[in-house]
Amino acid sequence: MFFLEPFGITDAGRVRQNNEDALLVGEGKDETLFAVADGIGGFEAGEVASSIAIEVLRRMEPGDSFEEALEEANRRIRAAARGDERFAGMGTTVVAVRFGQRDGRPVAEVAHVGDSRAYLMRGSSLRPVTEDHSLVAELVRSGDLSRAEAAEHPQRNLITRALGAEETVNVDTAVLPVEAGDRVVLCSDGLSDMVPEKRISEILDRHREDPETPARRLLQAALEAGGTDNVTVVVVDVRERREEERERGGTREMPPVAPPPAGRRRSPRPSARDKRRSSLSSRLLGRLLRGVIGLVAVAVLLTPAYLWGSSRYFLDVEGGEVVVHRGLPYEVGGVQLNEEWRRTGLRLSEVRRPYREPITERRLYTRDEVERVLRDLER
Ligand code: MN
Repeated sequence: MFFLEPFGITDAGRVRQNNEDALLVGEGKDETLFAVADGIGGFEAGEVASSIAIEVLRRMEPGDSFEEALEEANRRIRAAARGDERFAGMGTTVVAVRFGQRDGRPVAEVAHVGDSRAYLMRGSSLRPVTEDHSLVAELVRSGDLSRAEAAEHPQRNLITRALGAEETVNVDTAVLPVEAGDRVVLCSDGLSDMVPEKRISEILDRHREDPETPARRLLQAALEAGGTDNVTVVVVDVRERREEERERGGTREMPPVAPPPAGRRRSPRPSARDKRRSSLSSRLLGRLLRGVIGLVAVAVLLTPAYLWGSSRYFLDVEGGEVVVHRGLPYEVGGVQLNEEWRRTGLRLSEVRRPYREPITERRLYTRDEVERVLRDLER
């Protein structure tokens, strides 16, 4: 008999006043359900969005579908945003896992939207279960960035999917077989951005006795690395029940789960069979296929609604002059994803030091932020 031993922790971090992350650690109607949501939006809107998502998951009955629940959360977030202008444009990421049995074998069902992550640790190896819905992850998939470059990228927080962003939401789900000794980890980008995956893996591997110690150590590592964002970590250990542990509290048995409705589930990672199929196709179609894929990628990147969070601005240097562009500092398939927005008449050498780095690394700003930066620069 399997049981679960979970621990979850969240912290505002060292820089932010509010904690816009929210979490669910088995205290919902379905006690095998765990989730992390990372809200986005000004004032307290991010907190509102992430707590709506968690509230909907909390009320999920065992057997309810993740897609339907997250579609419901999407509708509620949008309704709340319509009802109060302070909440306009708010959204949230979400990653959720629930455990159960399918055909008598223990499984974890994972669903996610955005860049909050799930990992599975088996033995000493940690593997990502989710693929971020973020600009840099798309660029890694298209071959424009390496994974290492993505981890350091100044625009790595730009997400391409969120609950609340659009009328409909596209949820990725996966079902993983699990075994005794496995550990499932959910986290917000406040952990995965601050602490390299290798270090996360070491901490999880070093503290096997309970889920609490590694969760606290991971939080501590994120804070020590700067803690510039809210940090949330949930660690769930899958264990085999021994006789003497039957009396212990705080653990949850894994109930059977219904099979998924046919054709509704999509795995975020291609199966070995899908991979084989795609390599066969590319051999057959060669460059033609790659060309078509390239065009589709460009079309997707150019769709304005695609990049959640509306227009972005960045500063760049052209012929020595600082110029503001609207859009993203990339060229995909020969198409520039930005246009000139304003010339400043300033030379980079006239710009005070603290402002130079954001210019040379082409940091992205919202309209309000870039106008504030321009006022500071003109002073
Ligand atoms: Mn975050």
